[in-house]
Amino acid sequence: MSKQPILVFDFDGVIVDGLVEYWNSSRKACLKLLGNKKYEEQLPLIAPDAFRKVRPWVKNGWEMVLLTAELLRTDSPIKNPKQFSDEYQNNCHKALKFWNWNPKQLQIELDNVRKQAIHENKEKWLASHHPFSGVINRIQKLKNENIDWAILTTKSTEFTAQLLSYYNLFPTLLYGYERGNKPEILLQISNDYLIQGFIEDRRATLETVLNTPSISWIPCYLANWGYLKDNDDQGLPIGIQLLKQENFMCPVADWP
Ligand SMILES: [Mg+2]
Repeated sequence: MSKQPILVFDFDGVIVDGLVEYWNSSRKACLKLLGNKKYEEQLPLIAPDAFRKVRPWVKNGWEMVLLTAELLRTDSPIKNPKQFSDEYQNNCHKALKFWNWNPKQLQIELDNVRKQAIHENKEKWLASHHPFSGVINRIQKLKNENIDWAILTTKSTEFTAQLLSYYNLFPTLLYGYERGNKPEILLQISNDYLIQGFIEDRRATLETVLNTPSISWIPCYLANWGYLKDNDDQGLPIGIQLLKQENFMCPVADWP
């Protein structure tokens, strides 16, 4: 029997713009970890420019808590976002050392802050995310093409499920960060489904897929409406196509 076709979507930067919520939650998580009120005034309520500029380099949610803390440190390289992102991994590593934190505790704090926000005012929390215009509608129409769809995200499964149901979106499969890394999950999905495309806004993740022999055949699409770095859409390797919203609105059979 032939396998059911499926499209696999990243979530933040492809379906929703969660930057405002990410800043709010990272700010609160950071202040909780530091446990000192004096920092509150130093972190503005609106996402600072440096936070926005470094966002395209972020892979995991906890990194945003770390970036937030770095904004408090006068001699942090994040004061120059380009300098910080040029050596992103190395700077994150140094920052973890400076603050004496580990990724797990940052992720737990971030998740706790979100749980709290949902508990206090779910509607407000949901509304702090902004879906990209037209994307939700388009996904809802995939059933007319007999294509299933899945979500593969580094957000937690629980929060992603809440947002999806708020948008009236019910994917066949939903994998949050708890389920493992994206290449592993793509391989798992491909055992049962025919993956017609993996849609992501993080080029490095698509390149990893392309360089993983067991899944390198998966058609990769870079969503150009997400958090792209300046030259991400230039010189893409064979196997990664740039997906503009106008392409995305067309039947999948007509995608580049
Ligand atoms: Mg993304």
